[in-house]
Amino acid sequence: MNRTKSTQLFEEAKQLFPGGVSSPVRAFKSVLGAPLFMKKGKGSHVWDEDGNEFIDFCCSWGPLILGHADDRVVDSVSAALQHGTSFGTPTQYENILGKLIIENNQYIEKLRFVSSGTEAVMSAIRLARGYTGKNKIIKFEGCYHGHSDALLVKAGSGLVTLGETSSSGVPAAFANETIVVELDNEQAILNAIQQYENDIACIIIEPVPANNGLLLQRKEFLQFLKSCCVEHNILLIFDEVISGFRLGFEGAAGVYDIQPDIITFGKIIGGGLPVGAYGASKEIMAMVSPDGGVYQAGTLSGNPLSISAGIAQLTACLQPGFYEEINRKTKQLADHINAYTFAHKIPVNILIMGSIFWISFSENCVIRKAADIVPESLDKFKYFHAELLNRGVYIGPSGYEVCFISAAHTENDINTASAIICEVLSLIFDANYIYHA
Ligand SMILES: *Cc1c(COP(=O)(O)O)cnc(C)c1O
Repeated sequence: MNRTKSTQLFEEAKQLFPGGVSSPVRAFKSVLGAPLFMKKGKGSHVWDEDGNEFIDFCCSWGPLILGHADDRVVDSVSAALQHGTSFGTPTQYENILGKLIIENNQYIEKLRFVSSGTEAVMSAIRLARGYTGKNKIIKFEGCYHGHSDALLVKAGSGLVTLGETSSSGVPAAFANETIVVELDNEQAILNAIQQYENDIACIIIEPVPANNGLLLQRKEFLQFLKSCCVEHNILLIFDEVISGFRLGFEGAAGVYDIQPDIITFGKIIGGGLPVGAYGASKEIMAMVSPDGGVYQAGTLSGNPLSISAGIAQLTACLQPGFYEEINRKTKQLADHINAYTFAHKIPVNILIMGSIFWISFSENCVIRKAADIVPESLDKFKYFHAELLNRGVYIGPSGYEVCFISAAHTENDINTASAIICEVLSLIFDANYIYHA
């Protein structure tokens, strides 16, 4: 594979940006070679600056559920663009998208649009604190909620670990307000609630944790969180930035039929343009300014282009059979590969939820918490990644990242990619394998 142009562009970018990128995981730190600089995408395929073509399972990390440059999204954004890019006033577009979401999601009654998932979660936490008048938040090790200070805290050892920052620049005083517990562990929650009895504003979880592998939770665990929250006057926040409009139009709340107090959205809701949102009951949303005292604002919030992209994309998602079809394709890919790895005794499993799949380099089929992933199991990932690229399959450049299937992935894409993935797995697990760049 010729990477000449991407490599040159990356050398130049390193002079301009930290790590040469606008977001860290793009830098290919844990895989081989320079990041590919993408030039265009159409449907399920992307092309890099050197002219290499790939079947894309990154899909911009999830937003592109219709694939790249979907005509409906392009037309909707182009039409809006003719009328201007931003007004700093309300626009009709927001009403259209707001109605589309609220009328088709029984778990929220009012929404606020923001510009990213990070902003949605940060605002939801402030809202939970404002609403409850309490300070501390409980989050789970292995759940990612964007890069705001309070949430860049990971767990150390022990059942309940008081904030240890995982980013420098986060004051200890902020981190101390975040209690990190293990997923899949009821006792850890009980301990945390007991220890900080009257000062816990919210429990925030990715109901389908998909930012540290795919850590599928037991429904009973999610129900347990809900009942703890009810009992102790704590708000339950489902961070559905990945799972929202991905697992079904009502996201994980719909799949598990659990009513969270606040839901955050991002990614798919903006059709590939920057957007996020948070929603809750009318009563909770009444706390948000200007109705209530929880301040939250944004110059570009509800941006006409982002919202237009969202309208086109979510309208397509509401078509009958939309989710059944992408979920079916995802299962087809997983079944094909899992049958192969089982037959050939390759310690790799494809785990799926809806149209999200994760290639787990572990013999263990049940992986529910971050600690279940053995880091050494990912030693081969960089070769896996490079060999896939060489054969025209693009996935995110880290073994902890999940993959996505879009409505644009064809039967042929699925069959071709499954066959390539099997071929590469058997290659890299061969005892005599040596990587050739
Ligand atoms: C991607 C993601 C975020 C952050 O969203 P950005 O748009 O990248 O700021 C937050 N929470 C979850 C669950 C995510 O997957």
